[in-house]
Amino acid sequence: MTMTHNMPRVLKEASTVLQMIEEHQYEAYFVGGCMRDFLLQRPIEDVDITTSATPEQLMKIFPDVIPVGVEHGTVIVRYEHVSYEITTFRHENIAINERLLSEDLQRRDFTINAIAMNQHGKIIDLFNGQADLKNSRIQTVGHANDRFTEDPLRILRAIRFVSQLNFTIERATLEAMKDLKHLLKSVAVERITNELRLIFQGEYVQSAIELMKEVKLQKVLPVFQEVPSLLDKLPKNTTSFVTVAEVIALFHYIDRNISITTWTKKWKLPNKTKQSATSLVTLLDYYLQYGVNNWLAYQLPKNEQPSFFHLIGLVCHSDIKEEFMKVYHNLPVTSRVQLEFNGSDLQNIFRDYPRGRWISETLTEIEYDIVMGKLTNSKNAIKEWIKCHPPEVN
Ligand code: ATP
Ligand code: MG
Repeated sequence: MTMTHNMPRVLKEASTVLQMIEEHQYEAYFVGGCMRDFLLQRPIEDVDITTSATPEQLMKIFPDVIPVGVEHGTVIVRYEHVSYEITTFRHENIAINERLLSEDLQRRDFTINAIAMNQHGKIIDLFNGQADLKNSRIQTVGHANDRFTEDPLRILRAIRFVSQLNFTIERATLEAMKDLKHLLKSVAVERITNELRLIFQGEYVQSAIELMKEVKLQKVLPVFQEVPSLLDKLPKNTTSFVTVAEVIALFHYIDRNISITTWTKKWKLPNKTKQSATSLVTLLDYYLQYGVNNWLAYQLPKNEQPSFFHLIGLVCHSDIKEEFMKVYHNLPVTSRVQLEFNGSDLQNIFRDYPRGRWISETLTEIEYDIVMGKLTNSKNAIKEWIKCHPPEVN
């Protein structure tokens, strides 16, 4: 059976890429996550392609190729403003075409990720991945013990697919995960953190957390291995997190003894994530004391709003979005640059004062009163305010 009639737009567009490769007498297939998500009728994140052509051969076919991992046979082909990750089958020296693809599929992690399809919609499913999709089942291609030993990250990937798809893990695969989880200690932290991020962002994160506990993953993961009870302290019925910063903010809220810096260092996360987590916790504490008010709505960066609402939902079981947005839309100002007054205005009034912290402190007081609606944002009003609140020089 061919599947061209109901191919989603992304795959139809990408078919041209397969066709161009085939026109040069190489084989090319859609594979991996895009096939899984296509067959599940879920939105497709990115299109992975596997081919008999080598990176050098692909560079001759396409003008815009980024050699991201030529040593692993991987390039990114830019075509009509879309990026495609194209990987060469392993074992190019084997002559029979079907064998070449099978060698490639055999190296993939789970049966549901080992389904290929050519540009004409012909599906090649050597490990019964479609049956496992139908039965919502995750199992390794080949022997679970061997596959997890080869790359222990697959243990976390299995849990990630539970979190994203609400699948269950086939018995032998699950047993191997329990037996071999300690191997995760030797996996690069960045790879682990990336899967953890996807686990916490998954729609079925609650099932994934239960499973992490069942496998006892807390024994081997960074930070959790020092405080294994952390996972048990997560709120019941946890729903998907928006960002990894939010995950860290919540764990820090749960156990203040573990600093945000400890989390971001041990999870090797960028400074940006640390700042974002810090600001979420600061504002969470502020909210717990004062509730939703102008200052909270002003302080929370716009792009952090979804994570903050979700975090409050988990911690307080309340949905503040509507109330917050009402306050936010009525703010007198939304950022410091909108103030009708700045540091040099202040220094012009107090010419004989030395520069110092008093400038930013006074500006923050002015900012606070304007945001809270206690002071009008106009030069004259602010000057009057300063007369009543003369700055203390420090
Ligand atoms: P996503 O929707 O998040 O992209 P994905 O399944 O496509 O999910 P990728 O990391 O993009 O995940 O990998 C693409 C494909 O490569 C997978 O579907 C799988 O076939 C294979 N793969 C990825 N990582 C591994 C691994 N560690 N071991 C074996 N095969 C892997
Ligand atoms: Mg993918």
